[in-house]
Amino acid sequence: MRPLQELTRKNIWRLQPYSSARNEYSGKVAKVFLDANESPYNKPFNRYPDPLQTEVKKAVARIKGVEAGQIFVGNGSDEAIDLSYRCFTCPGTDNVVAIEPTYGMYRVCADINDVEYRPVLLDEHFDIDAERILAACDSNTKIVWLCSPNNPTGNALCREEMLKVTDRFDGLVVVDEAYSDFSTVKSLRHELSFHPNLIILNTMSKAWGCASIRMGMAFASKEIIDIFNRVKYPYNVSGLTQQQALRALSDPYEVDKWVRMLIQERDRMMEAFRLLPICQKVFPSEANFFLVRVTNAQAVYDYLVNRGIIVRNRTKVALCHDCLRITIGTKSENNELLAALRGL
Ligand SMILES: *Cc1c(COP(=O)(O)O)cnc(C)c1O
Repeated sequence: MRPLQELTRKNIWRLQPYSSARNEYSGKVAKVFLDANESPYNKPFNRYPDPLQTEVKKAVARIKGVEAGQIFVGNGSDEAIDLSYRCFTCPGTDNVVAIEPTYGMYRVCADINDVEYRPVLLDEHFDIDAERILAACDSNTKIVWLCSPNNPTGNALCREEMLKVTDRFDGLVVVDEAYSDFSTVKSLRHELSFHPNLIILNTMSKAWGCASIRMGMAFASKEIIDIFNRVKYPYNVSGLTQQQALRALSDPYEVDKWVRMLIQERDRMMEAFRLLPICQKVFPSEANFFLVRVTNAQAVYDYLVNRGIIVRNRTKVALCHDCLRITIGTKSENNELLAALRGL
């Protein structure tokens, strides 16, 4: 890995971050807060939230087995994705390499930041070849984007190949594990101490059932997390979000139950899809959705929309011609989809 200073945008390395009122006193027991121009009325909404989300990080640390200092909490994973560009790439000169197909935000954020985006096609099993990823990198490549289990394909990428990229690439490797709670494959966050260039993304939006509160996480070295924290908006995660996250994180067994039900339903749905006349191929999944190739994705999509059922048409995505991405819902929602397709 190149020194972090070399990977960091120069103005960001030099940045003097905003110091919020609540940041500046610390350690002392405070009882009267007349420092932040807040209203003393309308409790509890009147106070600014904890800018570093200390309690939330403690809870995440316990559940995920990562040190609190190695956790960044943001307004969805999307904030960590955007911050990766703003902290570590220079507009107009740097580039990033990403698997293709994958989650669309990596490219959108590259475009917003005027950073060249280099997609590298996955193989016929939607898996990566480390050599091909590494061959696409040059001295201006700052980030490699991996996503496992991948969206929209649903499969987990080969762990050894991901670690090979991480070992041999001298920039940062981001592995988006938004769907890792549904996967039997071991998370790469346990490898953080051996790979200082690794950033793992996670989110409350999928298995934890909290897409509405907007909370995502990044796990990385303390040095990388410190850079994210300097650049983020001071109060990037609202008090309401932190409160609801703490409530959700206090009951991981409920989430385990949801995950087990969704996996069971996913396997049932994949089996049922294989029997549909329109079905050409059901792709393996380690997520709460699966990808299916049908005889005419656009026609099936339109047919379902007319019946009030919305799936994701991925036919225009690389390697996903005539593919639909099906999210797993409740048993009765899933049955509605099956009933509609059997009437086709
Ligand atoms: C859904 C999803 C996310 C979640 O993004 P949030 O901003 O945390 O809601 C992140 N990455 C991938 C690949 C996803 O599919």
